[in-house]
Amino acid sequence: MSSVDTSLSPRVNSIKPSRSVTVADQASALIQAGVPIIKLSTGEPDFNTPAAIAEAGIKAIREGQTRYTQNAGILELRQAICRKLKEENEISYTPDQIVVSNGAKQSIVQAVLAVCSPGDEVLIPAPFWVSYPEIARLADAAPVILSTRIEDNFLLDPKVLESKLTEKSRLLILCSPCNPTGSVYPKKLLEEIAQIVAKHPRLLVLSDEIYEHIMYAPATHTSFASLPDMWERTLTINGFSKCFAMTGWRLGYLAGPSHFVAACGKLQSQFTSSASNISQKAAVAALGLGHAGGEAVATMVKAFRERRDFLVRSFGELEGVKMLEPQGAFYLFLDFSFYYGSEVEEFGKIDDSESFCGYLLEKAQVATVPGSAFGEDKGLRISYSSSLDTLKAAFESIKKSLLLLKRPA
Ligand code: PMP
Repeated sequence: MSSVDTSLSPRVNSIKPSRSVTVADQASALIQAGVPIIKLSTGEPDFNTPAAIAEAGIKAIREGQTRYTQNAGILELRQAICRKLKEENEISYTPDQIVVSNGAKQSIVQAVLAVCSPGDEVLIPAPFWVSYPEIARLADAAPVILSTRIEDNFLLDPKVLESKLTEKSRLLILCSPCNPTGSVYPKKLLEEIAQIVAKHPRLLVLSDEIYEHIMYAPATHTSFASLPDMWERTLTINGFSKCFAMTGWRLGYLAGPSHFVAACGKLQSQFTSSASNISQKAAVAALGLGHAGGEAVATMVKAFRERRDFLVRSFGELEGVKMLEPQGAFYLFLDFSFYYGSEVEEFGKIDDSESFCGYLLEKAQVATVPGSAFGEDKGLRISYSSSLDTLKAAFESIKKSLLLLKRPA
């Protein structure tokens, strides 16, 4: 019998699996085994796709819109995206400057693969969305992590950016509203960042705006490409998963200068071809719901805001917990490092975010994602895409489990 060579490519060996996915799998396995875990680890809205969007998808199937589409997406959708970007974001694109993909994640992978050469540096402010550094590695580029401070609302300090720029810097990734912190970049700060970017001819910016509509007033969204002289250098990423509760429809897009967008389209043509025809028809309906997603999206944002307010108020009353009031998205990043060093009977020592999350999973039966996955080990991420009642139960359980901790003297 011949033996099988089980070696894997260096490319796949160089990346880590998504930690938010592994936590979710671990929690699901416990639930299946009968443990009543409350899952606060999921990065998706708990709402169904709004009815008008779902109906458009059903209609597309009934009408036989079930074949491949143009590689970059149906013209009707790319035109609707251009209208949206003009009216809501003050950025002008033509339909040939849009590539629609199977989720924003694919749009990001293609963008990074299209612009980075081996050895290039991709600058990523931490805490970051788990996939950015791994996507940079997939492109044989080196992630360069830029630390931020809770005191600065986890926003990138332009001086830190300036200090890390080298000839190899190719791409700065900005995410606003941010997963996992909920921070929103104010226009003035983006303008300061743009001034630094403008001094470095090789540097491009990937602006991930996927949580754009999940925003709590008075915070407002600014698209990086709308800033003076930034259009040529910006790859704007957006999608339908979060704001329209369409994670399972797998639809996102990239907008940018023709040269880069064509390169992304070329990659997609050899990779997955077009996104789902049915989902594209549904996305046209989503963009037809009105400004910022109209009533349907406003209803979801109102619920997220109520939950955010509850969590910020409640965790604010606990000893040693530091946090930032999120201005957008549906995540709360909590700094529990005050409790590191604690010993717990029958559990052991808690000395980092992994062991802290492990403790919460075991004792509080609440699943959260450790901050180490996001490049900030002092904290953990809670997703408030669960009902207020579920969040109340989770909070009470976490509170009780904190009381059991014996901090070092
Ligand atoms: N960007 C960020 C910041 C995200 O949180 C996610 C999803 N977790 C994505 C992009 C990808 O979204 P999708 O592929 O579902 O469009």
